[in-house]
Amino acid sequence: MQGLRWLGVALTVGALAFAGCGDEEEPAGSGASGGESTPAATEAPAEKFEASTTLGKIQAKGEITIGVKFDVPPFGVKNPQSGEVEGFDVEMGKAVAAKLGVEPKFIEAISDNRIPFLTDGTADLILSTMTINEERVTQINFSDPYFIARGRVLVPGDSDITGVADLAGKNVCTALGSTYEANLKKQAPEAKLKLVDSYSECLELVQNGAVDAVSTDDVILTGMIIQDETLKLVGDPLTQEPYGAGIKLDETEVTEFVNGVFQELKDSGKWAELHQQWIGKYTGETAEPPTITVDEAVEMVKNN
Ligand code: GLU
Repeated sequence: MQGLRWLGVALTVGALAFAGCGDEEEPAGSGASGGESTPAATEAPAEKFEASTTLGKIQAKGEITIGVKFDVPPFGVKNPQSGEVEGFDVEMGKAVAAKLGVEPKFIEAISDNRIPFLTDGTADLILSTMTINEERVTQINFSDPYFIARGRVLVPGDSDITGVADLAGKNVCTALGSTYEANLKKQAPEAKLKLVDSYSECLELVQNGAVDAVSTDDVILTGMIIQDETLKLVGDPLTQEPYGAGIKLDETEVTEFVNGVFQELKDSGKWAELHQQWIGKYTGETAEPPTITVDEAVEMVKNN
């Protein structure tokens, strides 16, 4: 049932993505995540941080601003009925907010503005399907990896493309500011890249035939297939994409705090539960939480 409801949400979001609709009031908790907006209610009292620190300031404000995707089920998608944002990344953000004893405020962070949002203070935290890589670790801090995706190629069901080797001369959509700008230049140098702001645009373009394929993380492409079962994944995984939460550069205390929250989720079995709820039930896979460090994630991505 939950799957069907979620699918309905995803389809509606897809349909309304460019209409700018979607703040109709409906009871919260109608989506699969449940219990929204009560992060601190059932938690033990949060540790109080010094007023002068970043975490202390967030506590004084009573709110943490978290940048997530709004059009990427099952990681971050805005439910147009309830106005709530849902998904695996959103759950990670709710856990951080709950542990701090503040409300999460979710804002949309597309691939290309994730780092600027941290640098200019628009967001306190980014949970937006963001791969840890060598270039990015010089610009922002990352939490320990909380998920590992893989790069794939998605095409219409009747396409002859069977994998990355067939992308030469083809129009391939991916997001501006994503790792796939470089991944595709390396692995499909003759593909014609169509770089867009958001993944819902790639979905539209492949559906209406304006591009031949979409390439990005497997879980994002799976979200597209849930919305349109005529699409399919082809070929072997191209890359490994370890996700980390983005934090402003040199915010060590915030980074350690987020790591503590993620470690608790991993150790308690909650991570596995959330994985099943948001990802496993669509992919049929059970997964273990990642145990690699940020440095190991950087090395993993260098080998892509
Ligand atoms: N994980 C990749 C990245 O961080 C692709 C997904 C995205 O663009 O959000 O660039």
